[in-house]
Amino acid sequence: MNIYENQSLKAHNTFGIDCQTRYFAKFQSEQDAIELLKRCTSPLLILGGGSNILLTQDFPGTVLKNEIKGIEIIEESDIHTTVKVGGGEVWHDFVLWSIEQGLSGIENLSLIPGSVGAAPMQNIGAYGVEISAVFQRLDAISIVQQEKRVFNNPQCQFGYRSSIFKGDLKGKYVITYVYFRLNKKPNNNTSYGAILSELSKMGVKNPSVQDISTAVINIRERKLPNPRDIGNSGSFFKNPIIPIEKFFEVQKKYPHIVGYTVSDSQKKVAAGWLIEQAGWKGYRKGDAGIHENHALVLVNYGTANGMELMQLSKEVQTSVWNMFGIALEAEVNIISHQM
Ligand SMILES: Cc1cc2nc3c(=O)[nH]c(=O)nc-3n(C[C@H](O)[C@H](O)[C@H](O)COP(=O)(O)OP(=O)(O)OC[C@H]3O[C@@H](n4cnc5c(N)ncnc54)[C@H](O)[C@@H]3O)c2cc1C
Repeated sequence: MNIYENQSLKAHNTFGIDCQTRYFAKFQSEQDAIELLKRCTSPLLILGGGSNILLTQDFPGTVLKNEIKGIEIIEESDIHTTVKVGGGEVWHDFVLWSIEQGLSGIENLSLIPGSVGAAPMQNIGAYGVEISAVFQRLDAISIVQQEKRVFNNPQCQFGYRSSIFKGDLKGKYVITYVYFRLNKKPNNNTSYGAILSELSKMGVKNPSVQDISTAVINIRERKLPNPRDIGNSGSFFKNPIIPIEKFFEVQKKYPHIVGYTVSDSQKKVAAGWLIEQAGWKGYRKGDAGIHENHALVLVNYGTANGMELMQLSKEVQTSVWNMFGIALEAEVNIISHQM
């Protein structure tokens, strides 16, 4: 295993931020990961596709890129197929594989960038589905003791764009393999209006798993900026979940506020709507900006650095707070270590 010195991370993050790391190495197996963890210089950053990070400065330690590959069926029943997937597999490739096998459960999560190993980190979700619904367990290695550990579904403490790995165990484990229990019979979730109208545009009445995936891909390609064209990390903020009383209070002043019921006592508010109302949509300062069609997406038009984007995100948070009294929390992982 080679450990490289002073490597640029520009090609390894979808914001396209040109930061350097002191050391950089890749691992293709659990054994390699253990060896590297023993040898490498702290701090550590485990990297997948770099589609959910904002690098704010040069990284003084070691970046370890997960390249553990492999998709293997390990168990079958009449209704389920359990699949073990290497954390370094590209998420969308795995989705396409599952569709080819006629398996259902992750088709709504088509085209989400990134790796399989990072998917449990924030319980990736889209169009009414989160991976927690099909996640069975994962294998991980503790960064300090280099010991293997299995986490089952409840132990991951999945929530909305969260898990124990983004909370109490942040930075403590390398996720090496993820196990999914997929459905042999289609278990369609077309509750999102956008999917239904796309299927109708496609002329599909009884959608297959493949049709749903195609509909999601069509919507995403139309809607979301492709990081190949313009640097971004998808939604920069989570949709805030607020007490229902607070929602009604804001609604009195802003009757068009967009919110969804989460429980009897809570509403989830569309962060993009809040940011747009605060006047940020299409804002640009230098090469850092807010996408012209998506107020939730911060963009790098070329040469913005991570500090500029972080500064912009803070200004957005402050102005939304001042206008609505609602706090926005970053969904993207902000990476900042002093040299
Ligand atoms: C255009 C666009 C659209 C997006 N749409 C969605 C969406 O619809 N839904 C959604 O949920 N997300 C979305 N995202 C966010 C992103 O795709 C997901 O969060 C994805 O899971 C990140 O994977 P990654 O491999 O790129 O992670 P990275 O960015 O490499 O890492 C993210 C975090 O996980 C840690 N990490 C990565 N791999 C491991 C590992 N093996 N073990 C331990 N820690 C690890 C990193 O240290 C970092 O803290 C979008 C992003 C973009 C750019």
